[in-house]
Amino acid sequence: MSAFARAPASRYGVAAPAAAGRARIVTVPLSDQPVVPVTRARVRRLRMHLVETLRALRTLPDAERAATPARPEPDGLGGAVARTACGLCRGVCCKGGGDHAYLDEGTLARVRRARPELEAGAVIALYVGQVAGSVHRDSCVFHGANGCTLDRALRSDVCNSYFCPPLGQFVDHPRAPDGVVVIAREGHVQRRAPVLRQQP
Ligand code: SF4
Ligand code: SF4
Repeated sequence: MSAFARAPASRYGVAAPAAAGRARIVTVPLSDQPVVPVTRARVRRLRMHLVETLRALRTLPDAERAATPARPEPDGLGGAVARTACGLCRGVCCKGGGDHAYLDEGTLARVRRARPELEAGAVIALYVGQVAGSVHRDSCVFHGANGCTLDRALRSDVCNSYFCPPLGQFVDHPRAPDGVVVIAREGHVQRRAPVLRQQP
């Protein structure tokens, strides 16, 4: 569930699709959901979820150890392919984010450690302030028209580390001497990116 809807990194070479030749193909799903306004009820549910999670965090014997790591995005060709794939796919895997966005005690422990000056109310305001005005229908409350509206540092570890199987296979082994073509497909609808190549 990476930061979808971002353009491919410009430092990766791009060739015309016709020149794909023996390029490795990475095929991911494709979301066709329209974008709809976020309701107040959804924001209220997010707020409640954060209140309850912060409350649960306070009961942990060692909140410091509960903090999940702030994982960086993959770099190199793997990162470029991930950004391209998630941009074409438009966030199919964000559907499960609902009104909670997978925000758990570990995430909030990380945020509180990074921002100790913030009171609980300010942490909640930080999140609520980043809810998209409009989101993909039946998806996460942060799933905006152009991708996730939540800062990476505020996202759950699930969101920062998950890749769907076809994309994860590439990110784990980003080898493609003849380049990579990313295709997003749902039924007969298909979107395809130009060939990505690792620059020397
Ligand atoms: S990880 Fe896979 S399913 Fe999720 S947004 Fe990226 S390409 Fe789509
Ligand atoms: S916060 Fe929501 S929109 Fe953002 S990556 Fe996670 S599930 Fe997707």
